Amino acid sequence: MRILLLNPNRYLHPPVPPIGLEYIAGELVSAGHETRLVDLCFSDNPFHEIDGSVDAFRPDIAAVTVRNIDTVLYQTNEFFLDGIRSFVRHIRGTHNLRVLIGGPGVSADPEGVLAYLEADAAVEGAGEGIVVHAAEELLRGNGQGKVYRRQYSYEIAPSRRTEGVDYQRYLDEGGIAGFQTHRGCGSSCLYCIEADTPVTYRKIPEVIEEIRLLVGRGCTRFHLCDSEFNEDPDYALEFLRALKSSGLAIDWTLYMKPANHSRKLLRLMKETGVSLITLTVDSWKKCPLYWTDIEKIIFSAHSSGIRLVVDFLTGFPYEDEETLLFYLDFFRRLQPDQVGINIFIRLYRNLRVTQLIRKDSALKRGVLGRAEDRSLLRPVFYNSIGIGRMKELINGDPLFRLEGTDRGVNYCRRREEAAGS
Ligand code: SF4
Repeated sequence: MRILLLNPNRYLHPPVPPIGLEYIAGELVSAGHETRLVDLCFSDNPFHEIDGSVDAFRPDIAAVTVRNIDTVLYQTNEFFLDGIRSFVRHIRGTHNLRVLIGGPGVSADPEGVLAYLEADAAVEGAGEGIVVHAAEELLRGNGQGKVYRRQYSYEIAPSRRTEGVDYQRYLDEGGIAGFQTHRGCGSSCLYCIEADTPVTYRKIPEVIEEIRLLVGRGCTRFHLCDSEFNEDPDYALEFLRALKSSGLAIDWTLYMKPANHSRKLLRLMKETGVSLITLTVDSWKKCPLYWTDIEKIIFSAHSSGIRLVVDFLTGFPYEDEETLLFYLDFFRRLQPDQVGINIFIRLYRNLRVTQLIRKDSALKRGVLGRAEDRSLLRPVFYNSIGIGRMKELINGDPLFRLEGTDRGVNYCRRREEAAGS
């Protein structure tokens, strides 16, 4: 079978290589199928590019990745599904091909996104172990309207094929390469589409080999695409030891959650080239140990010489200003390198925070956007603190930055700061 793999993601702040599609290409090729990856990120004429690729490759079906539904930023939101749907319609209408969709954006609401995009079938979660079956079923004319979910396994061994992705262009345009050590997250943050997803690990030597290959292609800066690096502290330590003994000289950035860390972990992170930690923090009903963990990791990062910025989501239902002031003082005392404050909570249909808000009519006044659209695919947010009030509370303190007004990500900001210093 020949499968056209399409990356429709044309967002450039920053441009992000389609790592998920590269793993899917590896999976399909390992199963004996032929693939062609068409990356529309920098394309001047995407429809023309699709037509040319279909004419040359003659695929049997197409697979389209959906990285995000939207940018998840309130003030500068960009909604991606309409653009992706125009590609799906073109592939189905002009080329009469069935379309399979997958990727993190699909996993946020598989049935909803499948219907919105008018695609033929969807894969939820990591595609390894299921995408081959889904594609074969679709080719046989089965599975129309179906969402495929793979069975849980502790370990996966995805191969990765980067043909069709112009890494040099990504690097030139401000992007960096990525890699993954595991999929899923065992935490249960009520606002997160990755909460309580099955956690599956990769074999460490294969991850190291993949980094080596990318280094061979000129990539020296990486962003770890795991939800949070420290899902399992033993695995994380083992990975760092292997990376250290590989001798690979890379600079990498990652996300962490306030758990499962130690000074040893942070020291090894520094020794293997970690230059920036983004710590995911929220204010929703946490036990005191949560804040102790945050305190410890900030101190460990300081003493290891790693920059640490906090992504702080706050303004949940039933929180009051006194609580918020407590957290602002907490961060003022600990002095991480920066605290990005997000007071707009993106509501998706399947999230616990959405159910919470729906149950209490008093909370509906905080809902922004077309809440009557029950699919919540088009951006709807919850906000309980006005921007003006938030600015008064942080009172110009440079430690804090209000998220949502610029479109960059932390690793880009870090590079800009380094370039300016
Ligand atoms: S720890 Fe991070 S990835 Fe996991 S559920 Fe919470 S916010 Fe999501």
